Amino acid sequence: MRRLRIPERNVIRIDEARLQARMAALARIGRDPRGGVSRLAYSDTDREARETVTAWMREAGLTPRVDAAGNIIARRDGTDASLAPLLFGSHVDSVPNGGDLDGPLGTLAAIEAAHTMLDAGVRTRHPIEVVVWSNEEGGLYGSRAVSGQLPHAELDNVSASGRTIADGIRAIGGDPERLAEARRAPGSIAGYLELHIEQGQVLESTGTDIGIVLGIVAIYQWEVTITGVTNHSGTTPMDRRHDAVLAGARFVELVHRAVIDEPGTHVGTVGRFEASPGAPNAIAGEVVCSLELRALDTGVIERLYARIETEAKAIAEATGTTFAFSGLIASVPAPSDPRIRGAIAAAARTVGCSAREMPSGAGHDAQCLAPLGPIGMIFIPSVGGVSHSPGEYSTPEAVRNGANVLLHAVLEADRTLP
Ligand SMILES: [Zn+2]
Repeated sequence: MRRLRIPERNVIRIDEARLQARMAALARIGRDPRGGVSRLAYSDTDREARETVTAWMREAGLTPRVDAAGNIIARRDGTDASLAPLLFGSHVDSVPNGGDLDGPLGTLAAIEAAHTMLDAGVRTRHPIEVVVWSNEEGGLYGSRAVSGQLPHAELDNVSASGRTIADGIRAIGGDPERLAEARRAPGSIAGYLELHIEQGQVLESTGTDIGIVLGIVAIYQWEVTITGVTNHSGTTPMDRRHDAVLAGARFVELVHRAVIDEPGTHVGTVGRFEASPGAPNAIAGEVVCSLELRALDTGVIERLYARIETEAKAIAEATGTTFAFSGLIASVPAPSDPRIRGAIAAAARTVGCSAREMPSGAGHDAQCLAPLGPIGMIFIPSVGGVSHSPGEYSTPEAVRNGANVLLHAVLEADRTLP
C-alpha cells in the first residue's frame, strides 16, 4: 500500500497558472515547424528567450545582469550581507528540434520561486541569484567559464548556431576578452540548486514524484580498434578467418553482460561501430567502435573496464584478432552535497511529495558548480523518459511539484547552510 503523504498546511506555494503561462510563452520562442523548439545557443531565438526571461526576473523582484560569459545572473539581497549567495536556475537554449522542458523548467521554476517569495514577503538570509547558464547544450560553456574550466582555445569552437563561441558570447551581451571576470572562487557560493526533468524513466516507473540527485556521473569513453584480416567472403573457409566484425559483435555482448552483472545504476554503451572495408563480400579486417561507461563511482568504472579488457583478450584469441583501447574522455563525477539533498528531502515532505535518491546519467551545469560549493539537483518524471525531442513532456502536476520542491529546498537551504 502506498503511504499517504499529507502536505503541511499554511506553507507557501508557487503560482501554477503564472508558471504554466510563462512556460507556454517561452515555448513559442523558437517554435520548430516539426514540433518542439529549436533555440540554439547564441541564435536570435536564444536572445529573444533571454530577453523574455530577463523581464520576468525583474517582475520577480530580482536585479539581472549578464556576466562576461553571457550567463544571466539575477540577484536579490538577503538579510545578512556577510553571507555568500544561494544560486538556482538552469538554461533556456535547446538542442535542434528539442523539447519545451529541458532547461526552461528549471529556469522558469527558479524565477517562479523567487516571485513567490516576493509575493509572500519572504526574505532569505542569503542573497539569492537566479541564473540562466549560457550555451548549456553546446557543452556547458557558461557554467564552465564560471568555474574556470573553459580553456581560452575553446572560444574558437563553432557552435551549432554557426557562430564561434567568442562571437556567440558577444551576441548575448558577454565579453570573451574578459572571460576571467566571470570566474567565481571555490567557497564563494553558499549553494547551487537546479530543477530539471529526469530525461529517463526511473521516477515514472516507480511512481515517484521527486528525484533527489546523488550526483552527476563520471563519463569514461574509449575508442576500440579491433584488427583482423580482410579477405574474400566466398573463398575463405570459416575456420581460417580473422573476422573483426565477429570479434566486435562478441565485444558488444561482453560490454552489455559485464555492465548488468554488477548491481547498481551504472550504464555502459557501444554507440558507434564501423567496419572496414564494409562490403557484403569481404570479411572485415577492422572495426572501430566506442566504449562508454558512466557511474557515480569511478571505482565501478575501473572495475568494469578491467573486466572488459581482460575478456576482450579471450575474444581476440578465439577470433584471431587484436583489440586496442585508446582512452578519450574521463570526466570526474560531481557528487551532490548531503546538506542540499537533505534540504530537498525536507522540501518534498513539506509539500507532500514522494522522493527517491538517484544519479544523473546526463550532464548538467550543476556539475561545473560542484567545485565552488555544495550542489544539488531535483528531478521530476519525464513521461516515457523522452527528452531532446519534441515529445519531451512532464505533467502539469509534476511541474508544479518540482517548482514547489525547488522553492522550499531553497528556503530550507537558506535556513540550514552557513
Ligand atoms: Zn538541460
